[in-house]
Amino acid sequence: MPGPGPLEPNLWSKLQFLSDPVCTCCGSPFEIAVEEGQLCGACLAQPPVYNRARAALVYGDVSRDLVLALKYQGRRDGLSLLSGWMASAGRDLLAEADVIVPVPLHYFRLVRRGFNQSVWLAAGLSRASGVPMSVSILKRARATPTQGGLSAEGRRRNVQGAFRVRKGKQVKIKDQKILLVDDVLTTGATAEACSRALKRAGASCVDVLTLARVAAPRSVAI
Ligand SMILES: [Zn+2]
Repeated sequence: MPGPGPLEPNLWSKLQFLSDPVCTCCGSPFEIAVEEGQLCGACLAQPPVYNRARAALVYGDVSRDLVLALKYQGRRDGLSLLSGWMASAGRDLLAEADVIVPVPLHYFRLVRRGFNQSVWLAAGLSRASGVPMSVSILKRARATPTQGGLSAEGRRRNVQGAFRVRKGKQVKIKDQKILLVDDVLTTGATAEACSRALKRAGASCVDVLTLARVAAPRSVAI
């Protein structure tokens, strides 16, 4: 692939950045202008387990290529640019965070792939903000099939109980504000499963920051 980064140069300008107004809680974009501090219908009906979620980019054709290059080809060029965008989109969250926690891969997948792209993004955020990162707090206790192609409910079931706070780490997160970092937020099932584990272990707040997110509102189980 030519060019200095994981995208063709002409595609960088086609990336769609998320901008206000967004839901104060889940960060999904509103299509119409609303007053600051508004919640979307889904968050009013059923608040997510995490406190707030923010993302830099709308997940679409161009940002998908960026994420796939990061995730499956291990392209690290442009990484500081990506984490810079995330730092900007999540500045309020970063300002309050005590520790940055990347969404973990299961051990087998980590060994097979050789890297965890969420750790790379989290490390970039940590460098940019000075907030420490920890990869030893959360673990994926169960290898789950990839979420692609699953419905919202299927995704929820797939990751239910898949994440655990490692033994002995409860004391490290008790009453702490955690910033959970992942590459993409789709239905939010993974973010919620991680947040549930962290809050059960004593975290006072879990915010979520991703590189990209789908623009659609959260789907709420009825
Ligand atoms: Zn919302």
